Amino acid sequence: MAYETLKQEIIDYSKEIGIDKIGFASTDEFSELKSRLKLQQESGFQSGFEKGTIEERTEPVRLMAEAQSIIAIALAYPSRIKSPPRGVKGDRRGVFCRASWGKDYHHLLREKLEKLGAFIQEKVEGFEYKPMVDTGELSDRAVAERAGIGFSGKNCAIITPEFGSYVYLGEMITNIPFPPDSPVADGCGDCTKCIDNCPTGALVEGGRLNANKCIAFLTQTKDFLPDEYRDIIGNQLYGFDTCQTICPKNKGIDFHLHPEMEPNPELVKPRLVPLLSLSNREFKAKFGNMAGSWRGKKPIQRNAIIALAHYKEKSAIEDLIRVMKEDPRPVIRGTAAWAIGKIGSELGFRAIENAMVKESDHQVLEEMEKGLAFQTEKDKEKPVH
Ligand code: SF4
Repeated sequence: MAYETLKQEIIDYSKEIGIDKIGFASTDEFSELKSRLKLQQESGFQSGFEKGTIEERTEPVRLMAEAQSIIAIALAYPSRIKSPPRGVKGDRRGVFCRASWGKDYHHLLREKLEKLGAFIQEKVEGFEYKPMVDTGELSDRAVAERAGIGFSGKNCAIITPEFGSYVYLGEMITNIPFPPDSPVADGCGDCTKCIDNCPTGALVEGGRLNANKCIAFLTQTKDFLPDEYRDIIGNQLYGFDTCQTICPKNKGIDFHLHPEMEPNPELVKPRLVPLLSLSNREFKAKFGNMAGSWRGKKPIQRNAIIALAHYKEKSAIEDLIRVMKEDPRPVIRGTAAWAIGKIGSELGFRAIENAMVKESDHQVLEEMEKGLAFQTEKDKEKPVH
């Protein structure tokens, strides 16, 4: 079988099934990535969400003994909501990042990869493949870079010439030696906008991210959000897009090629207060199909509380008091107590004092103390007569 011909047939078929970009790469060791991952590990910059050992993440043959090539795919996603709802005083909204708009992309890309795999299986007897999207051992970005999907930006995203960095990536390791494609030339040049505008300094240098400082990562943690990030996170419920929106390569980029990716404005910019009282079942029914729901409702609710504090939304005080008194989860009770204090009202401060009497969790009590400390700050601001 002439692999060049088959490759072209695969490229043609990929367009038919709605794959926006496809590339082919060798299964050579990702040696540069290996050094970077080791450095990340030594520096403590990993998120903990990574799968597999560094060897498995950089040596495709460890994942498939017969590995001969990798096929990388990209699907472009929208960057703008057509008619976004606006949060207003008394009815504030949070926001999910773009990669969580529409149907969970993990499923979408897997479906495409399975179709592609079945297509090749029909043509080649004994064809084997191992698909991955985001949660596999391989680095989607390293594969996409090698396969010529785009260059690796200083913002740690793959930037395609056609769709900017607003692309989902996936790949399959195959047992066919397809001729590889050439990488795209680096396009960042002297630009450092993403590094300069990262609000937490998580981009420590071009292409190097301290995941533990990255807001996108922090929105997904389940514990108390460290104090230093609470004012920065704003109304983000899941993920963070500044390193993409600030990038000149994304200017004017907004593709709506896949109906499944269209954002439902009420889901991707939901009202904050109703989020506080969602049951697990309601959360699953409403948000379960979004990529941003994978960590469950707790981080989203914690972030919603922080967003209400960010807006100093006084109309939410009674809801927050109820959460502080009744929610069984210490992270939620404690964050609510902090938020009540941050919003700052007499009703809120008295409620914290009353709740403290019954509270036994030491972390929640600490948050209550922090909440009450805002009262002292407020008192200092009062004019002395
Ligand atoms: Fe590269 Fe500038 Fe985009 Fe950052 S903002 S990824 S430096 S082009």
